[in-house]
Amino acid sequence: MVSPPAANTTGDASELLARRLRTETRGEVLFDAASRGRYATDASIYQIMPIGVFVPRSERDIALAIEIARDLKTPVLARGAGTSQCGQATGAALVVDHSKYLRRALDIDIEARTATVEPGLALDPLNALLKPHGLWFPVDVSTSAQATLGGMAGNNSCGSRSIAYGNMVHNVLGAKVWLSDGEEVDFGPIASLEPRAARIADFVRSLAARQRSEIEARWPTVLRRVAGYNLDIFHNRSERPYSPDDDVNLAHLLVGSEGTLAFTKTLTLRLSPLPRAKVLGVVNFPTFHAAMDAAQHLVKLGPTAVELVDRTMIDLSLANPAFRPTIESALVGKPAAILLVEFSGDDKETLLRKLPDLVAVMGDLGLPGSVVRMTDDAQQRALWEVRKAGLNIMMSLKGDGKPVSFIEDCAVPLEHLASYTDALTEVFAKHGTHGTWYAHASVGTLHVRPILDLRQGGPEGGAAKMRAIAEEAAELVRKYKGAYSGEHGDGLCRGEWIEWQFGPAIYQAFRAIKRELDPINLFNPGKIIDPPRMDDASLFRFPTPTAPRPYRTIALTPVLDWSAWNVQNNPVTEATTPPGSGGDPTGGFAKAVEMCNNNGHCRKFDAGTMCPSFRATRDELHLTRGRANTLRLALSGQLGSDALTGDAVYEAMDLCVGCKGCRRECPTGVDMAKMKVEFLAHYKARHGFTLKDRLVAGLPDYARTASRLAGVLNLRDRLPPVARLTESLLGLAARRPLPRWRTDTFWRSIEPAIFSGRDQTIKAAQAGGKAAVLFVDTFNGNFETENAGAAARVLKAAGYTLHTLAAHGRHPCCGRTYLSVGMIEAARSKIRALIDELLPFARADIAIVGLEPSCLLTLRDEALALGLGQGACDVAAHALLLEEFISQEAKAGRFNLKFKPAQKPFLVHGHCHQKAFDALNAVFDVLRLIPGARPQPIESSCCGLAGSFGYESGHYEVSMQMAEIGLLPAVREHPDAIVVADGTSCRQQIAHGTEREALHVARVLEKHFSD
Ligand SMILES: Cc1cc2nc3c(=O)[nH]c(=O)nc-3n(C[C@H](O)[C@H](O)[C@H](O)COP(=O)(O)OP(=O)(O)OC[C@H]3O[C@@H](n4cnc5c(N)ncnc54)[C@H](O)[C@@H]3O)c2cc1C
Ligand code: SF4
Ligand code: SF4
Repeated sequence: MVSPPAANTTGDASELLARRLRTETRGEVLFDAASRGRYATDASIYQIMPIGVFVPRSERDIALAIEIARDLKTPVLARGAGTSQCGQATGAALVVDHSKYLRRALDIDIEARTATVEPGLALDPLNALLKPHGLWFPVDVSTSAQATLGGMAGNNSCGSRSIAYGNMVHNVLGAKVWLSDGEEVDFGPIASLEPRAARIADFVRSLAARQRSEIEARWPTVLRRVAGYNLDIFHNRSERPYSPDDDVNLAHLLVGSEGTLAFTKTLTLRLSPLPRAKVLGVVNFPTFHAAMDAAQHLVKLGPTAVELVDRTMIDLSLANPAFRPTIESALVGKPAAILLVEFSGDDKETLLRKLPDLVAVMGDLGLPGSVVRMTDDAQQRALWEVRKAGLNIMMSLKGDGKPVSFIEDCAVPLEHLASYTDALTEVFAKHGTHGTWYAHASVGTLHVRPILDLRQGGPEGGAAKMRAIAEEAAELVRKYKGAYSGEHGDGLCRGEWIEWQFGPAIYQAFRAIKRELDPINLFNPGKIIDPPRMDDASLFRFPTPTAPRPYRTIALTPVLDWSAWNVQNNPVTEATTPPGSGGDPTGGFAKAVEMCNNNGHCRKFDAGTMCPSFRATRDELHLTRGRANTLRLALSGQLGSDALTGDAVYEAMDLCVGCKGCRRECPTGVDMAKMKVEFLAHYKARHGFTLKDRLVAGLPDYARTASRLAGVLNLRDRLPPVARLTESLLGLAARRPLPRWRTDTFWRSIEPAIFSGRDQTIKAAQAGGKAAVLFVDTFNGNFETENAGAAARVLKAAGYTLHTLAAHGRHPCCGRTYLSVGMIEAARSKIRALIDELLPFARADIAIVGLEPSCLLTLRDEALALGLGQGACDVAAHALLLEEFISQEAKAGRFNLKFKPAQKPFLVHGHCHQKAFDALNAVFDVLRLIPGARPQPIESSCCGLAGSFGYESGHYEVSMQMAEIGLLPAVREHPDAIVVADGTSCRQQIAHGTEREALHVARVLEKHFSD
């Protein structure tokens, strides 16, 4: 027997643990309930509260933490990005997060094609380092942006191209680790082991020898077997040898051990040449069965990937205007499924010859004319993107029934794939559900998640159905001689099936391995050895009503309309009930929060926006996922009473800049910016508004008067003591210049010849003429008058009858500033007034054209969640940013201004809300109207200023960190370029950080306008 889990989880013990970690290490020690709650889940269905969380800054910190935990008999759980799907990254342990500080590539040997890395380094950053050398680490997991190499080794991860490159185990060359007694040991090729490792190798060799007949009889021989420990290193049972030369490497024993045997200090990896060329053949099938049956024949052609897209996913992609042209270009007729068959290598000409072979095979299979050839790189990339996005849309099903990951990666030999998938589909139907299939047909691992409502208990509940489906799937796997655990590991949902898969004798051998390497059961207890039942509802994130800790949402009246999330779904058809009928006592707010399935995609650092506060801090606390988890825990009473309006939630929401990056980029559409508005409303209702809140919110109201005092108010930036006073009194950072007041506001300097009255504008439109309303916001109107003027002159010159709102010397505002501090009622009344003014134009089908993305797009977003009726919808349908309007009009042949050729390059920084609403392409369209313009995007997330965020003294530093990640360096690198930025905040941040003036696209057009 392995010793019982070392858990010493009493309050005193955990206090002592925290104290010792604080005094003896330099790492971050997070033992409060909310921090622990943020590490209680991974991308699985489970939730286990850790004893505490430790974020080490160095290897020394980790060694000390292991020592302290051992002294105090506290289990330790190594964690990377926490994207595991089976619960292996959760546990009642000290969770050690490697991803923040332990993420260096220590050595890259180009000649030898090896890299030695720290375990917290994610795959994409490693591959970015390797790309210039023509190399990559080819275990291309879908979570490459966030998955760490330590976690990938822990899970024996597998990529889409595993048929060509193998799994993690085939690509790890060595590992330096700590054992639970604290000894540091090098695991590597068997011939060069030091004494301790050699003893372990001898032990495993003799164990394996004793089990040889069992191994031969019971070990799945498919490539994709990741369950248990790799006892077969001495007698390889994988379809592919673990090492190309067939040498035994002791590091392979640790791969897939889910952190239960050792703590990884460094990993040495085998690199591969980056393929220079790729071609794709898309095979269209009349039935799903035919696609599954064909896989075994297609792999004989030597593809690097064969990936499935089924009809559900095809339909989802066709329904999306952005993806429709791409997916259409891959289809022949109306197929039930397509397989993407990729060939890659050094030379495109050679690869092109593979496509006729593919066509011939399909002809032999009775499907002539079924192959679409894709040789263009951009077209291929676009199709892979569709495949990824389709999966994301699928995961965003609203309601308590969710696609549940528990049998999603059984692997069967290819000759049985069709029969297996047919049989499993029947199993789903028998249990009143269905699943959508996707992923790796080449290796017999098809992902499928049946839709189940795990919150429902009893014999008809989700947990009971999950167990029944798992048992029936397991029987099918056995029948077809496959592997039950083929990609995502064992964890909590497949741990109990290890003994079922390998039999009692081999399982005892696994136990012996654990005892040899970790006799005190310090590392991740309850995984692989002695796991709990998969359907133990007390371990669920959403425990059933009869579980010891049932999941209950607190009652709350939301200020925004979340009814679209307050629905239930039909597990077979996926149809949802009407909005508001889902039984959520928070009106849908809690269900919207619960959409976060912890996949961790918000930890990415790509060209997108999500999530700027994480990009700057690398803290789980300041991550979309961390925020969603904190809200979920608060809304379900797990952080104590009144937690929603308490400090812990405030802290989690504090650095959310409301950029809406997550709204677009989170696979399940978690809209944290909107959630922050909801949160702030409740928080402020309890704690009251500060003077700064009132100053920020009321700007549109007092701006007109204040602008008359421009000279006096602008002294603030010239007189440092005054700036310091505003910092101490109002919390406005003294280092941050404020927008410059001016007396010549837009409304005071309106050129009468440009604008027409309301009736005249409507009549012009009704007569078939060109007409628009220019909605000028508080910021452009008061501080950057020339932008509004430029937009007006350009539109006028292009022949539009133009109206602008300026009732009684005031202008109605979009309510943005009020929303940003949580003053919902004031925001609602502002927006209602604005809608009342704009509605006659919307009803006359006249475009409402705005300049500031955050203001104009409020009409298309928050205004619709404030219960303002059909009028809000009508206005939203006509609200366009200037660039969107001009782009649309130009495409319709209605915008024919002539521009002077560009003299300088254009560098474009997109405002986050432009990106969130897919409006940035329009900026490029419009700039391309200028002859010779080749605008280049700046790969940047949020500028960091974000409304009032970066003006606040408490946020100044992090605001500048956000800007320095991409935006400011890019501007400095291009001293000659015209920097185009449509956001007021973005222009302010660029001016502050680089002393360069960025221009609104309206001014760029005006500068190039030749009359
Ligand atoms: C949407 C989605 C798609 C996915 N696609 C794929 C896919 O294509 N292929 C695939 O294989 N997987 C996939 N996964 C699963 C998961 O992303 C991968 O297994 C990933 O490699 C895990 O990396 P991580 O950093 O999140 O590890 P974690 O989840 O943090 O940890 C994984 C395991 O490794 C252990 N571990 C972590 N660091 C160490 C260390 N320093 N020492 C010892 N043990 C350690 C942990 O204890 C844990 O048991 C997917 C998951 C999701 C949510
Ligand atoms: S917030 Fe979205 S991207 Fe982040 S973990 Fe949750 S579901 Fe994934
Ligand atoms: S709105 Fe922006 S800052 Fe806030 S969680 Fe979403 S991506 Fe992060």
